[in-house]
Amino acid sequence: MRTIRSLGLLLCAVLVVAGCATGGARAPLRVAALYCGEIQIPDISPWSPGFNQGRPMTFSDNCYLIQHGSDWMLWDSGLADALAANPDGAGGPMGMRMRRTKTLASQLAALGVAPEQIKIVAFSHTHADHVGNANQFAGATLYMQQAEHDAAFGAEPGKFGFNPALYAKLRDAKVVKLNGDKDVFGDGSVVILSTPGHTPGHQSLLLRLPKTGAVILSGDCAHFEENFDQRRVPRFNFSREQTLASMERVAQLMRTERAQFWINHDGEQNAGLAHGQFID
Ligand SMILES: [Zn+2]
Repeated sequence: MRTIRSLGLLLCAVLVVAGCATGGARAPLRVAALYCGEIQIPDISPWSPGFNQGRPMTFSDNCYLIQHGSDWMLWDSGLADALAANPDGAGGPMGMRMRRTKTLASQLAALGVAPEQIKIVAFSHTHADHVGNANQFAGATLYMQQAEHDAAFGAEPGKFGFNPALYAKLRDAKVVKLNGDKDVFGDGSVVILSTPGHTPGHQSLLLRLPKTGAVILSGDCAHFEENFDQRRVPRFNFSREQTLASMERVAQLMRTERAQFWINHDGEQNAGLAHGQFID
Protein backbone atom coordinates (compact mmCIF):
# COMPACT_ATOMS: atom_id res chain seq x y z
CA MET A 1 0.00 0.00 0.00
CA ARG A 2 2.74 2.37 1.03
CA THR A 3 4.72 1.49 -2.11
CA ILE A 4 1.72 2.32 -4.33
CA ARG A 5 1.25 5.63 -2.54
CA SER A 6 4.89 6.67 -2.88
CA LEU A 7 4.82 5.57 -6.50
CA GLY A 8 1.86 7.89 -7.02
CA LEU A 9 3.67 10.74 -5.33
CA LEU A 10 6.74 10.10 -7.45
CA LEU A 11 4.57 10.14 -10.59
CA CYS A 12 3.03 13.46 -9.52
CA ALA A 13 6.48 14.90 -8.99
CA VAL A 14 7.52 13.77 -12.49
CA LEU A 15 4.36 15.30 -14.00
CA VAL A 16 4.95 18.58 -12.20
CA VAL A 17 8.48 18.69 -13.58
CA ALA A 18 7.15 17.92 -17.06
CA GLY A 19 4.64 20.75 -16.59
CA CYS A 20 7.44 23.13 -15.62
CA ALA A 21 9.46 22.08 -18.65
CA THR A 22 6.61 22.98 -21.02
CA GLY A 23 5.99 26.41 -19.56
CA GLY A 24 4.67 25.77 -16.05
CA ALA A 25 1.41 27.28 -14.83
CA ARG A 26 -0.83 28.65 -17.54
CA ALA A 27 -3.68 31.08 -17.22
CA PRO A 28 -7.09 29.53 -17.93
CA LEU A 29 -7.80 29.37 -21.65
CA ARG A 30 -11.05 28.95 -23.54
CA VAL A 31 -12.37 29.63 -27.01
CA ALA A 32 -15.77 30.22 -28.59
CA ALA A 33 -16.35 29.81 -32.32
CA LEU A 34 -18.70 32.50 -33.59
CA TYR A 35 -20.80 32.44 -36.74
CA CYS A 36 -19.34 35.08 -39.04
CA GLY A 37 -21.20 34.43 -42.26
CA GLU A 38 -21.47 31.96 -45.09
CA ILE A 39 -20.40 31.98 -48.72
CA GLN A 40 -22.21 30.11 -51.49
CA ILE A 41 -19.94 29.11 -54.34
CA PRO A 42 -21.44 27.68 -57.55
CA ASP A 43 -18.24 25.98 -58.69
CA ILE A 44 -15.36 25.24 -56.33
CA SER A 45 -12.91 24.06 -58.99
CA PRO A 46 -10.83 27.28 -58.78
CA TRP A 47 -10.09 26.20 -55.18
CA SER A 48 -9.02 22.75 -56.33
CA PRO A 49 -7.71 23.11 -59.90
CA GLY A 50 -8.37 20.06 -62.05
CA PHE A 51 -10.99 18.72 -59.63
CA ASN A 52 -14.57 19.44 -58.57
CA GLN A 53 -15.60 21.03 -61.86
CA GLY A 54 -19.10 22.52 -61.44
CA ARG A 55 -19.42 21.31 -57.86
CA PRO A 56 -21.15 23.85 -55.61
CA MET A 57 -20.22 24.29 -51.96
CA THR A 58 -21.23 26.53 -49.09
CA PHE A 59 -18.30 27.79 -47.09
CA SER A 60 -18.75 28.49 -43.42
CA ASP A 61 -17.00 31.55 -42.03
CA ASN A 62 -16.03 31.80 -38.38
CA CYS A 63 -14.55 34.21 -35.92
CA TYR A 64 -13.03 32.91 -32.70
CA LEU A 65 -13.17 34.65 -29.34
CA ILE A 66 -10.37 33.57 -27.04
CA GLN A 67 -10.10 34.23 -23.32
CA HIS A 68 -6.69 33.85 -21.71
CA GLY A 69 -6.89 34.70 -18.02
CA SER A 70 -8.50 38.15 -18.00
CA ASP A 71 -7.40 38.97 -21.56
CA TRP A 72 -9.64 38.77 -24.62
CA MET A 73 -8.35 38.04 -28.09
CA LEU A 74 -10.23 37.87 -31.40
CA TRP A 75 -9.04 35.65 -34.24
CA ASP A 76 -10.55 36.68 -37.59
CA SER A 77 -13.57 38.95 -37.89
CA GLY A 78 -15.59 37.38 -40.70
CA LEU A 79 -17.79 39.09 -43.24
CA ALA A 80 -18.86 42.68 -42.55
CA ASP A 81 -21.71 42.99 -40.04
CA ALA A 82 -23.44 45.39 -42.46
CA LEU A 83 -24.32 42.37 -44.61
CA ALA A 84 -26.76 41.20 -41.95
CA ALA A 85 -29.11 44.03 -42.96
CA ASN A 86 -29.63 42.42 -46.37
CA PRO A 87 -31.12 38.90 -46.40
CA ASP A 88 -29.93 38.43 -50.00
CA GLY A 89 -26.38 39.23 -48.97
CA ALA A 90 -23.91 40.46 -51.55
CA GLY A 91 -22.40 39.07 -54.71
CA GLY A 92 -18.67 38.55 -55.12
CA PRO A 93 -16.14 37.28 -57.65
CA MET A 94 -16.55 33.82 -59.25
CA GLY A 95 -20.31 33.89 -58.73
CA MET A 96 -19.97 33.87 -54.95
CA ARG A 97 -22.83 35.02 -52.73
CA MET A 98 -21.95 36.16 -49.22
CA ARG A 99 -24.42 36.36 -46.38
CA ARG A 100 -24.61 36.73 -42.69
CA THR A 101 -27.77 36.34 -40.66
CA LYS A 102 -26.44 37.81 -37.41
CA THR A 103 -23.69 40.20 -36.55
CA LEU A 104 -20.41 39.60 -34.78
CA ALA A 105 -21.25 42.53 -32.48
CA SER A 106 -24.47 40.83 -31.31
CA GLN A 107 -22.65 37.55 -30.63
CA LEU A 108 -19.97 39.28 -28.60
CA ALA A 109 -22.72 41.08 -26.66
CA ALA A 110 -24.45 37.75 -25.98
CA LEU A 111 -21.21 36.55 -24.39
CA GLY A 112 -20.94 39.78 -22.39
CA VAL A 113 -17.89 41.11 -24.22
CA ALA A 114 -17.71 44.66 -25.59
CA PRO A 115 -15.48 45.21 -28.65
CA GLU A 116 -13.29 47.62 -26.67
CA GLN A 117 -12.53 44.87 -24.13
CA ILE A 118 -10.69 42.95 -26.82
CA LYS A 119 -7.01 43.69 -26.31
CA ILE A 120 -5.52 41.54 -29.04
CA VAL A 121 -6.74 41.05 -32.57
CA ALA A 122 -5.20 38.90 -35.28
CA PHE A 123 -6.44 37.88 -38.68
CA SER A 124 -5.36 34.78 -40.53
CA HIS A 125 -5.06 37.07 -43.54
CA THR A 126 -6.52 40.21 -45.03
CA HIS A 127 -9.24 38.92 -47.40
CA ALA A 128 -12.69 40.48 -46.98
CA ASP A 129 -14.27 37.42 -45.34
CA HIS A 130 -11.69 37.58 -42.53
CA VAL A 131 -11.28 41.33 -41.94
CA GLY A 132 -14.90 42.39 -42.59
CA ASN A 133 -15.24 43.84 -39.08
CA ALA A 134 -11.63 44.82 -38.46
CA ASN A 135 -12.52 48.49 -38.03
CA GLN A 136 -14.52 47.65 -34.88
CA PHE A 137 -11.26 46.66 -33.15
CA ALA A 138 -9.01 49.63 -33.86
CA GLY A 139 -8.29 49.97 -30.13
CA ALA A 140 -6.74 46.50 -29.88
CA THR A 141 -3.15 45.53 -30.54
CA LEU A 142 -2.85 43.94 -33.97
CA TYR A 143 -0.60 40.90 -34.42
CA MET A 144 0.29 40.66 -38.09
CA GLN A 145 3.09 39.23 -40.18
CA GLN A 146 5.36 41.91 -41.61
CA ALA A 147 4.78 40.53 -45.13
CA GLU A 148 0.99 40.79 -44.73
CA HIS A 149 1.27 44.30 -43.26
CA ASP A 150 3.42 45.43 -46.18
CA ALA A 151 0.86 44.03 -48.65
CA ALA A 152 -2.22 45.34 -46.82
CA PHE A 153 -0.95 48.85 -46.09
CA GLY A 154 1.36 49.20 -49.09
CA ALA A 155 0.71 50.91 -52.39
CA GLU A 156 -1.22 48.09 -54.07
CA PRO A 157 -3.46 46.17 -51.64
CA GLY A 158 -5.81 45.34 -54.53
CA LYS A 159 -3.07 43.29 -56.15
CA PHE A 160 -3.42 40.84 -53.26
CA GLY A 161 -7.22 40.85 -53.37
CA PHE A 162 -7.51 43.11 -50.31
CA ASN A 163 -10.10 45.84 -49.78
CA PRO A 164 -8.37 48.48 -47.61
CA ALA A 165 -11.60 50.26 -46.62
CA LEU A 166 -12.49 47.23 -44.48
CA TYR A 167 -9.44 47.66 -42.23
CA ALA A 168 -8.54 51.34 -42.75
CA LYS A 169 -8.88 52.14 -39.03
CA LEU A 170 -6.11 49.68 -38.21
CA ARG A 171 -3.53 51.64 -40.13
CA ASP A 172 -2.68 53.60 -36.98
CA ALA A 173 -3.46 50.82 -34.50
CA LYS A 174 -0.81 49.49 -32.17
CA VAL A 175 0.78 46.66 -34.12
CA VAL A 176 3.19 43.84 -33.36
CA LYS A 177 4.76 42.93 -36.69
CA LEU A 178 5.85 39.32 -36.90
CA ASN A 179 8.43 37.47 -38.92
CA GLY A 180 7.40 33.94 -38.05
CA ASP A 181 5.64 32.32 -35.10
CA LYS A 182 4.58 34.19 -31.99
CA ASP A 183 3.77 32.80 -28.55
CA VAL A 184 1.17 35.48 -27.78
CA PHE A 185 1.00 35.18 -23.98
CA GLY A 186 4.45 33.68 -23.43
CA ASP A 187 3.12 30.45 -21.88
CA GLY A 188 2.72 28.34 -25.03
CA SER A 189 -1.08 28.30 -24.85
CA VAL A 190 -1.78 30.56 -27.86
CA VAL A 191 0.75 30.49 -30.67
CA ILE A 192 0.45 32.30 -33.99
CA LEU A 193 1.89 30.05 -36.69
CA SER A 194 3.39 31.52 -39.81
CA THR A 195 1.68 29.64 -42.69
CA PRO A 196 2.28 31.80 -45.78
CA GLY A 197 1.08 30.96 -49.27
CA HIS A 198 -2.60 31.85 -49.52
CA THR A 199 -1.43 35.43 -48.98
CA PRO A 200 2.14 36.73 -48.36
CA GLY A 201 1.83 36.74 -44.57
CA HIS A 202 -0.94 34.24 -43.93
CA GLN A 203 -1.01 32.80 -40.41
CA SER A 204 -2.81 30.05 -38.47
CA LEU A 205 -3.36 29.74 -34.73
CA LEU A 206 -2.40 26.95 -32.35
CA LEU A 207 -4.43 26.76 -29.14
CA ARG A 208 -3.38 24.37 -26.40
CA LEU A 209 -6.68 24.04 -24.56
CA PRO A 210 -6.59 22.53 -21.08
CA LYS A 211 -9.32 19.91 -21.65
CA THR A 212 -9.82 19.70 -25.42
CA GLY A 213 -6.10 19.59 -26.14
CA ALA A 214 -4.40 21.20 -29.10
CA VAL A 215 -6.47 22.81 -31.84
CA ILE A 216 -5.13 24.54 -34.94
CA LEU A 217 -7.34 27.23 -36.45
CA SER A 218 -6.67 27.00 -40.17
CA GLY A 219 -7.28 30.42 -41.60
CA ASP A 220 -7.23 29.68 -45.33
CA CYS A 221 -4.19 27.39 -45.17
CA ALA A 222 -6.76 25.01 -46.68
CA HIS A 223 -10.43 25.78 -47.38
CA PHE A 224 -11.91 22.31 -46.85
CA GLU A 225 -10.73 18.92 -45.69
CA GLU A 226 -10.46 17.26 -49.10
CA ASN A 227 -8.18 20.04 -50.33
CA PHE A 228 -6.00 19.68 -47.25
CA ASP A 229 -5.81 15.88 -47.50
CA GLN A 230 -5.00 15.99 -51.23
CA ARG A 231 -2.71 19.03 -50.90
CA ARG A 232 -4.63 21.02 -53.50
CA VAL A 233 -3.74 24.67 -53.91
CA PRO A 234 -6.30 27.25 -55.08
CA ARG A 235 -5.27 28.79 -58.36
CA PHE A 236 -5.43 32.33 -56.98
CA ASN A 237 -3.08 31.74 -54.03
CA PHE A 238 -0.09 34.05 -53.65
CA SER A 239 2.43 31.18 -53.67
CA ARG A 240 1.76 27.55 -54.48
CA GLU A 241 5.13 26.46 -53.10
CA GLN A 242 4.63 28.26 -49.78
CA THR A 243 1.06 26.94 -49.50
CA LEU A 244 2.24 23.34 -49.88
CA ALA A 245 5.00 23.87 -47.31
CA SER A 246 2.50 25.43 -44.89
CA MET A 247 0.05 22.52 -45.28
CA GLU A 248 2.88 20.09 -44.64
CA ARG A 249 3.89 22.04 -41.57
CA VAL A 250 0.34 21.94 -40.18
CA ALA A 251 0.10 18.20 -40.87
CA GLN A 252 3.33 17.65 -38.96
CA LEU A 253 2.12 19.75 -36.03
CA MET A 254 -1.13 17.79 -35.97
CA ARG A 255 0.95 14.68 -35.40
CA THR A 256 3.36 16.07 -32.81
CA GLU A 257 0.66 18.03 -30.92
CA ARG A 258 -2.11 15.46 -31.54
CA ALA A 259 -3.99 18.53 -32.69
CA GLN A 260 -7.41 18.89 -34.23
CA PHE A 261 -7.51 21.03 -37.37
CA TRP A 262 -10.50 23.34 -37.44
CA ILE A 263 -10.93 24.38 -41.06
CA ASN A 264 -12.66 27.72 -41.10
CA HIS A 265 -14.47 27.37 -44.43
CA ASP A 266 -15.29 23.64 -44.26
CA GLY A 267 -19.06 23.80 -43.88
CA GLU A 268 -19.42 20.10 -43.21
CA GLN A 269 -16.81 20.00 -40.46
CA ASN A 270 -18.14 23.26 -39.12
CA ALA A 271 -21.65 21.82 -38.64
CA GLY A 272 -20.22 19.69 -35.84
CA LEU A 273 -18.81 22.69 -34.02
CA ALA A 274 -20.81 24.41 -31.26
CA HIS A 275 -21.00 28.14 -31.93
CA GLY A 276 -21.35 30.87 -29.35
CA GLN A 277 -20.24 28.56 -26.53
CA PHE A 278 -16.92 28.43 -24.78
CA ILE A 279 -14.92 25.26 -24.73
CA ASP A 280 -11.75 24.79 -22.72
ZN1 LIG B 1 -8.72 34.02 -48.16
